[in-house]
Amino acid sequence: MTTPTNWLDLIPSEAERSVRQWVAARGEPEYRSRQIFRYLWQHPLPSWSAATDLPKKMVADLTTEAPIPRLALETQQVARDGTVKNLWRLHDGKAVESVWIPGRDRATLCISSQAGCAYACAFCATGRMGFERNLTAWEIAGQVREAVLDSAMGLPTNVVFMGMGEPLHNWKEVSRSLTIINDARGLGIGARRITVSTIGIIPRLKELARRPEQFRLAISLHAAISERRAALMPVEKKYPIAQLTTVLSEFRKRITFEYVMIHGANDTRADADALSELAKNLRAMVNLLPLHPTAGNDLRPTPKDDIRAFAAYLKEKGVNVTVRRSRGLDIDAACGQLRVQSKQRRGVQVK
Ligand code: SAH
Repeated sequence: MTTPTNWLDLIPSEAERSVRQWVAARGEPEYRSRQIFRYLWQHPLPSWSAATDLPKKMVADLTTEAPIPRLALETQQVARDGTVKNLWRLHDGKAVESVWIPGRDRATLCISSQAGCAYACAFCATGRMGFERNLTAWEIAGQVREAVLDSAMGLPTNVVFMGMGEPLHNWKEVSRSLTIINDARGLGIGARRITVSTIGIIPRLKELARRPEQFRLAISLHAAISERRAALMPVEKKYPIAQLTTVLSEFRKRITFEYVMIHGANDTRADADALSELAKNLRAMVNLLPLHPTAGNDLRPTPKDDIRAFAAYLKEKGVNVTVRRSRGLDIDAACGQLRVQSKQRRGVQVK
């Protein structure tokens, strides 16, 4: 017997062709392939046995020859503000998290692109895990598919690559997952509602720039002065701000700088001046985030009032700046808090 096909790991155009070939090889009518194909992303099914409009024999064959892979939900935690953190166990035992963030008129799903992360930013919980492995395109887009299958969630309006991992360190699979998430024959989420967040791996940034879709780009900057950034983010030594600026100035996509406010590390007047200069030159928006507490470092958050003053100063300088509200803090689901721990946490609500 041939190895089972994973149609979810193909971009929609390839999957459509593969499904058509499968149907044709069985001598079945063409409309069967349209029925089957819709169940991949447009009307996701939990398994082929739920395809009640297909003949029993076909369901049985699909189940053995092209089973629908799933991410196994290990734990689900719900925060007081409605944020939901899911821990997914992958087939090889690795685990990643995704976070559902409901809003008044939107729902954002924050997804992971790698198990662990190689870049070791001083303030980031995932960075402390080290790198485990890249996720495949279906494991990435599958996090969105699982939300659609969950009656408490559904299709998010927005997807952000701000979970675990560095998306541009896994560009090949992330690029394919972007196609699946965006394509009308995939999940059909508009490119402007999909944000790739990165520390700025320059060669891969150029490849992202070459894509015709208007995906949103978030750059995790965290300091606009090179030595200050290097103290927080080792990547600065390899891809320094000066180089990053050159590449970003050629970018046609809208850019947001993510800036975690850390007391004494990046929140002085000199930091604000450097940041406003950079943001204005690139016409980038600035998103200030309070530092979220994570174990393993002695960094302290900038006090709230100082964040407000920092934001006001930037605004005065003509920078488009927002202060992001923290979500899901009580379940360690906020930005930079995702870290898979081997032991079960207290208060975990198992679904
Ligand atoms: N590697 C990518 C994707 C992860 S995004 C990137 O860094 O952009 C995670 C976001 O959360 C980034 O903006 C990151 O800088 C931010 N973050 C990390 N640790 C944090 C912390 N302790 N508090 C607040 N934000 C944090």
